[in-house]
Amino acid sequence: MRIYLSRPHMSGREEQRVAEAFASNFVAPLGPQLDAFEASVRDYLGADVYCVGLSSGSAALHLALRIAGVGPSDEVWISSMTFAGGIFPVNYLGASPRFFDLDPASWTLDTARLAEELAKASSENRLPKAIVPTDLYGQSADLVPLEALAEQYGVRLIVDSAESLGASYKNGRKAGTGGDAAILSFNGNKIITTSGGGMLVTRHKAWAEKANFLATQARDPAPHYEHSTYGYNYRLSNICAAIGLGQMEVLDIRVARRREIFARYKSALSRPGIAFMPEPEGLHTTRWLTALTIDPTETGVTREDIRLMLLEHKIEGRPLWKPMHMQPLYAGAPYHGAGVDERLFANGLCLPSGSDMTDEQQDEVIGRVLDLLDAKGN
Ligand SMILES: *Cc1c(COP(=O)(O)O)cnc(C)c1O
Repeated sequence: MRIYLSRPHMSGREEQRVAEAFASNFVAPLGPQLDAFEASVRDYLGADVYCVGLSSGSAALHLALRIAGVGPSDEVWISSMTFAGGIFPVNYLGASPRFFDLDPASWTLDTARLAEELAKASSENRLPKAIVPTDLYGQSADLVPLEALAEQYGVRLIVDSAESLGASYKNGRKAGTGGDAAILSFNGNKIITTSGGGMLVTRHKAWAEKANFLATQARDPAPHYEHSTYGYNYRLSNICAAIGLGQMEVLDIRVARRREIFARYKSALSRPGIAFMPEPEGLHTTRWLTALTIDPTETGVTREDIRLMLLEHKIEGRPLWKPMHMQPLYAGAPYHGAGVDERLFANGLCLPSGSDMTDEQQDEVIGRVLDLLDAKGN
């Protein structure tokens, strides 16, 4: 591949931070760089939250759901259009997912539909234990109604902000500060990376303490190893946290570049039959990946035509997430929606969006897509 969807993009400051970590000899899942990385994310979020560095975003979601009390007889209500790591922890806990569609105006969880189903479930005494909306492609879910509904029905709200660190919701409130807890990911393809890693962000001190406890093998206070419950080995490596410290310094620059890439695609490729992911008034998305839909009847071209043509030139594109209610794994699971997510999957494509992509590389992608549209277009 010559042009990737989204690659790690180092700033040059990471190696010094890693050298400092080596000098401290904290080559371990604890240490000064990890403490500093957690503090740096908390400062960035600018909210009254606690941050716990973990080995992945999936691990963060697993811990959040467990701390929320999710177990085998419980339902978790969740955005169907998401990535595996944003749903599999529901399976780890033996709970059952109930899937929800997106609002076409934001491509985030349809809160009106959620409200209707919560009212119904409440009257039938079958409320979920937790709700998990996804900040799709870096756009914050609609936090005000979500938090109001969670409060009204006494349901835990855990926001999957894996793709939205650096985004903001209304009035400048940062993505990653929502609900009882939010999860972040620092996987290699995200806006910033620690090579692999994640974080639990929560406004509850007790949740942060519990997450720390469970992530370090659930060791009860005692000189020997004493366990009253089981835990996990989920803490973030201090070496990886050092990389994260260097990356946090350039987070806003990385987001600005991704937004610039989105804007260039949008201005070059907008034509009848092509639609870009909307950004509701007052929100500031990271544009982690540039996501668009191609209507084949209007353009004469399918999203697969474009993806395969790009692939021939060693340029990576990817269909939008396949909704989880369409996956064999979740066949038969309840789904509430109008198929907005199904249509996005059928016609949606992510274009190369890495912040290290050059203008020349982007111009090549744009040129090739335009050539195909002109050649096949009707
Ligand atoms: C990346 C991602 C995750 C999982 O993060 P990992 O760090 O890869 O475990 C979860 N949800 C969404 C929506 C993601 O994009």
